[in-house]
Amino acid sequence: MKRALLVIDYTVDFVAPDGKLTCGEPGQALEGKIVSIIEEFIASGDLVVFANDVHYEGDTLHPETKLFPPHNLYRTAGRDLYGKVKTAYEKNKDVCIFLDKTRYSAFAGTKLGILLAERRIMDVHLVGVCTDICVLHTAVDAYNSGYSITVHADAVASFNAQGHDWALGHFKGSLGANVI
Ligand code: ZN
Repeated sequence: MKRALLVIDYTVDFVAPDGKLTCGEPGQALEGKIVSIIEEFIASGDLVVFANDVHYEGDTLHPETKLFPPHNLYRTAGRDLYGKVKTAYEKNKDVCIFLDKTRYSAFAGTKLGILLAERRIMDVHLVGVCTDICVLHTAVDAYNSGYSITVHADAVASFNAQGHDWALGHFKGSLGANVI
């Protein structure tokens, strides 16, 4: 086990047409590509982590409360993985990790760092949504902790096309990531 695939926020609320904070068609279009990357990582014995937002109804202290409508609320269907990615998770759940996060970054306040350290993994691959929010903040934290970073350009998306393009440039030019 040398690499970890971080599948970021590929949930109903962020991807489905009627999701609470959906990035829409660009997100839905990633479904097949993300599944094939998950299968490749599982087949090679690498780690797959599904990192998903969790928020709580009426949480006035959370900084996102004043920025976004409620999304990925605890114990709601909006927090389920979307489409075929959900199926891929269910098929492989014994060898995958489902990780709750409460901030944009999958590293912020979670046990992700310790899970990777236990496995001596310093190589992280990023897919999911949104390129310029949760994928970006996860990549910045990975950079600050010295991980080698690969971003799969055809498996990340955003509701903001300009933000998506900017983030892909930032991954490469400022975080030293492989953008493939
Ligand atoms: Zn959120």
